[in-house]
Amino acid sequence: MSILEVNNVSKSFGGVKANVDISMSVEKGKIVGLIGPNGSGKTTLFNSIVGTYPVDSGSIKFNNKEVSELPVPVIAKLGLLRTFQQTRIYGKLNCIDNMLISHKGSDESLITIFSKIPKNLTDKAENLLSFVGLYQKRKLRAGDLSFGQQKLLELAMALMNEPEMLLLDEPTAGINPTLINGIIDRLIKVNQDFGITLLVIEHNMKVIMQLAEDIFCLAHGKMLANGSPDEIKNDKRVIDAYLGA
Ligand code: ADP
Repeated sequence: MSILEVNNVSKSFGGVKANVDISMSVEKGKIVGLIGPNGSGKTTLFNSIVGTYPVDSGSIKFNNKEVSELPVPVIAKLGLLRTFQQTRIYGKLNCIDNMLISHKGSDESLITIFSKIPKNLTDKAENLLSFVGLYQKRKLRAGDLSFGQQKLLELAMALMNEPEMLLLDEPTAGINPTLINGIIDRLIKVNQDFGITLLVIEHNMKVIMQLAEDIFCLAHGKMLANGSPDEIKNDKRVIDAYLGA
């Protein structure tokens, strides 16, 4: 059963055709990869799926509901969230407060921060910080964490909202190679223990081949190939796209 259906989506910026007639389907419960050379349209597609800007044409269905006309907060409430290549945390707040502020949008959470915080919410934040290995750092300012730890905090912040599907933009970019396996293990746990479907943009081929069961490859704004890691690895069109042929 598919959780996300993208059908014939196109998006241009002025004369730049960032996405051209893109179609893809993501099965519920899977970890799916989205790869392609720089400028191939991956981020644009993420932005279209989560509602950052409207598509020019085509349809995007999340759990069979058309979402292409809906704004980001409404799509987020339906259970579809994204993380960013550059983390979006509040550097001056400690980790716990970042977690509380990210809970279900902002307005209510700001009130929550500055009034009495329900214990179950603090417990949930602490459990998720434990899950990503940041419990000991929970009272530190998020801005003082390493980049890798900030990425884990951002992941935990997204989990506060119990998404059904998460779009992850380069979860291992800028991470010390020795820590990459830890991130991969956590993402597999997010998928298996929480049952969250993942769609992952990743430049590190080794990582995406390890993580994803199904991979989509974009090139020049178009869908070039789709298949298992083995199929994608051996697809001449994919190899040529990366070599700039
Ligand atoms: P990728 O994520 O695969 O690197 P992007 O989706 O960021 O690719 O970019 C695809 C193309 O769209 C590029 O040519 C890029 O310059 C262009 N583009 C993306 N976002 C914008 C924008 N907001 N304004 C103008 N051009 C954009």
